[in-house]
Amino acid sequence: MLFPDQTERLITYINARLALDEAAENTGIAAAGSPAEAAEWDWVRHGRQQRSAIRGLLATIRKVTDEQLRQALLIQTGSMWAAHLPLVDRSGRPYTCNGGGLTYLTDCHLATPTISMGTLSCRVCYHEVESELTFPPEPAVTDELHRPGQPKVNR
Ligand SMILES: [Zn+2]
Repeated sequence: MLFPDQTERLITYINARLALDEAAENTGIAAAGSPAEAAEWDWVRHGRQQRSAIRGLLATIRKVTDEQLRQALLIQTGSMWAAHLPLVDRSGRPYTCNGGGLTYLTDCHLATPTISMGTLSCRVCYHEVESELTFPPEPAVTDELHRPGQPKVNR
């Protein structure tokens, strides 16, 4: 792989996704109205088991000493959320984890950027996009879901 080791960034990204999933679950439980019984519900139990399994997987992957194998395992784990709304990092740009690892997405189509006619462009509409999109995102566990049209920060 040509990009630098993204182990910590990928783990942070996955933890951010787990935290958002847990928050969504808590919202769902509150909406259903009986938090005391929630642990008995199939969808709650399934979500909790899944997050627990992923946390165990992360702890195991951390011990993999081969850098490329470790990253490949984390990329595959992180790709579980590739079809969900992207997150927004502290630069205010949408990003996700797909088969290529952590990557920024274009504002216009939430697509991965590509080189077209020598310029960095949106893969969908071919409009030129800012060159910063080639850099790796900087995930934080507190990153939120990207909401289309939300104001950007730090730009
Ligand atoms: Zn576009």
